[in-house]
Amino acid sequence: MKYALVTGASRGIGRAISIKLAEQGYNILINFKSNEAEANKTAEMVRGKNMLAELLKFDVSRKNEVDEVLGQWIEKNKENSIEILVNNAGVREDALMMWMTEDQWKNVLGSSLDAFYYVSRHVLGGMLANKYGRIVNVVSLSGIKGMPGQTNYSAAKAGIIGATKALAQEVARRGITVNAVAPGFIRTDMTQDLNEQELKNLIPMKRFGEPEEVADAVVFLASVQASYITGTVLSINGGLYT
Ligand code: NAP
Repeated sequence: MKYALVTGASRGIGRAISIKLAEQGYNILINFKSNEAEANKTAEMVRGKNMLAELLKFDVSRKNEVDEVLGQWIEKNKENSIEILVNNAGVREDALMMWMTEDQWKNVLGSSLDAFYYVSRHVLGGMLANKYGRIVNVVSLSGIKGMPGQTNYSAAKAGIIGATKALAQEVARRGITVNAVAPGFIRTDMTQDLNEQELKNLIPMKRFGEPEEVADAVVFLASVQASYITGTVLSINGGLYT
């Protein structure tokens, strides 16, 4: 059976991606950190598309949790393959560099950049053996442009962009593509504290994006049809370029 693993799938962009991948005929492994109620809602929505949904609770920034939960799932499901990995989980902890605590730095780098390493390595083995796979990393405009108050977040996302390009070249001959999407401002819990009325004036389309608009691009990059696209970063930002 074909599975897609979506990290941070309990809410926001990860939920939208999970539902749209289910519409494409994938069973979904729904990773989340703590919000089990919301993860269950995503699972119900996936089941509503007549596909299987399984919750995988682990903190992507903790190697031991990733190894235990994801490692065990892979061990127990040797006949099933994870064809698609979407590294989507992430957090924002904004502060000016002068005032940024070591925890703020480490939490943000851990849940994005370290997580990319911890999670992708588990899934890559199966993809290499099957000579097929799609990895899509959810980065950010901040990782391309750099945003003041977000040295941690910009560094994490820029780091993943570099890793995307490097890994894409490593695995290109094995039928595996590795790409990234870089959203601008998307309406989710992560951007709830931002002043949308003010910020939307900066965006040529004069609005925030919706999670589904990111998900559609992820689904395309994760499709069989996107077979000759690898190592790219696709901006999804309503024209808000650098
Ligand atoms: P969100 O609504 O805040 O949801 C975050 C998701 O990530 C939740 O499912 C959360 O799980 C999960 N998560 C957070 N830390 C985790 C960890 N350590 N281990 C496992 N899961 C973890 O965020 P979003 O806006 O959908 O963002 C999704 C991705 O898009 C992030 O990588 C973010 O950086 C990126 N992005 C977002 C925007 C935007 O404007 N929203 C723009 C650019 C990029 P729980 O529910 O269990 O907490």
